[in-house]
Amino acid sequence: MEVRTRFAPSPTGFMHLGNLRTALYTYLYARRMGGKFILRIEDTDQEREVPGAVDVIYKSLKTAGISHDEGPDVGGPCGPYIQSQRKDMYLPYAKKLVETGHAYYCFCTKERLDEARAEAEKKGETFKYDKHCLHLPKEEVQRRLDAGESWVIRQNIPTTGKAGFDDVIYGHVEVDCDTLDDNVLIKADGLPTYNFANVIDDHTMGITHVMRGNEYLPSAPKYNLLYEAFGWTPPTYIHLTPVMVEGTYRNKKTGEYLMATDEAGNPVLDENGQPVKAIVKRKLSKSQGDPTYEDLLAEGYLNEAIVNYMALLGWSPRGENEFFTLKELEQVFDLEGLSKSPSFFDKAKLTWFNAEYIRKLTPEQYLEAAAPWLAKALDPAKFDFKRLAELLQARTEVFSQLPEMVDFLAKMPEFDNELYTHKKMKTNPEIAKTALEMVRPVLAGIPEADWSETTLHDAVMAAVAESGMKNGQVLWPLRIAISGKANTPGGAFEIAYLLGREETMRRLDQSLGKL
Ligand code: GLU
Repeated sequence: MEVRTRFAPSPTGFMHLGNLRTALYTYLYARRMGGKFILRIEDTDQEREVPGAVDVIYKSLKTAGISHDEGPDVGGPCGPYIQSQRKDMYLPYAKKLVETGHAYYCFCTKERLDEARAEAEKKGETFKYDKHCLHLPKEEVQRRLDAGESWVIRQNIPTTGKAGFDDVIYGHVEVDCDTLDDNVLIKADGLPTYNFANVIDDHTMGITHVMRGNEYLPSAPKYNLLYEAFGWTPPTYIHLTPVMVEGTYRNKKTGEYLMATDEAGNPVLDENGQPVKAIVKRKLSKSQGDPTYEDLLAEGYLNEAIVNYMALLGWSPRGENEFFTLKELEQVFDLEGLSKSPSFFDKAKLTWFNAEYIRKLTPEQYLEAAAPWLAKALDPAKFDFKRLAELLQARTEVFSQLPEMVDFLAKMPEFDNELYTHKKMKTNPEIAKTALEMVRPVLAGIPEADWSETTLHDAVMAAVAESGMKNGQVLWPLRIAISGKANTPGGAFEIAYLLGREETMRRLDQSLGKL
């Protein structure tokens, strides 16, 4: 049997990292099995439409390299692939269930339901629909339908017995039917709920493996009852364990952060006496401030690094190797490697991955990726980006760091003369003054046309040797004097070259004047 998997996102306007991972695993499994990967847009349960949100899904999948075989934009034999465009398909199925007694029309008003809900809340119980309309005589149902009363169709869950299903990760999952609510299958507007649509769609699209977040685990027994009611074979279920993070927690309603307390319940204070936010283990969440896939790309993480990292967040390869291209993952991904426990998103680990990927870029690839970031701080007409890229590649972890790493070239930072003090280099402001006075005429003697790293190096090193000073005693102060920073990409010669003769001399004189 051909494996058919699907990714079924709701158009929210961004790609949650957990969703990206689901898409990735679903895609990889289809590829590994030589099957088909289907994209379905689930837009019927949306409170409100987010403009452009579907395009975000296409764009994110495309960027990640996850290509679908069937979907709204590429077509296929089971279309349409957008739920709202399938809206007329669901009611006939629901009516079939009504006929067989597995579902029923419900005419209960919002007021009645609100009252019942409030009642349950008062008693501290979770609300469960009381099957009021299940017991309406058939003739009354027909009369009310004919009269044009507003209705929904509810699933008729048995009141006794158990409902269960088998899951690849969670094993056999079983619940008592009397804990399940008679969920709405078709809403008053005639549209299906997610609970109903996903079952009809998965069946009619021939989906063999349903992979999704474990938040659907509690509902899956109900879906299985629907499969049984229709006499359909359910798909293989793979509910993925969640992607967690250790981070701060903010109450969505009040906007207040959870604050850290010690064992006695007192606030934990930082060195300034300010209360500290608590760090908790929770699900990765955009509303808590965690990054989405788009955020990471915008921050200068490489797509390949994100995909590789996300693939490992909940799935383990057989060997020691941690580095995989998407193509390689398509060869090795398996269900056996899926984690049975939650995984933790660790931005530091992702950053490490990213740095590794950056190092593996060819100089040309690096320059191409780095140039827009360098241009945020430097005028490309004034600076040699190619040389700068060579100096930066090994020390770049994330591209967004670049503007800050190079902006000293555009504008000389203010600095304290104490920066000249360096124990290992055996230098201090006083020695720096001597060194800079010694080296100034050497630099001034190099004509503009010869201003290169080699010339600078040879001229300065010769002068250092002659002066009897140590290399570090001259090179450290020179670098500080023209960069204003202790940490720079490249040393004194590279910086002098990048700045050019005029700016180097200007900075040198200015710094000397302050010594
Ligand atoms: N539309 C659901 C979501 O975005 C997908 C659930 C499923 O895969 O069945 O969470």
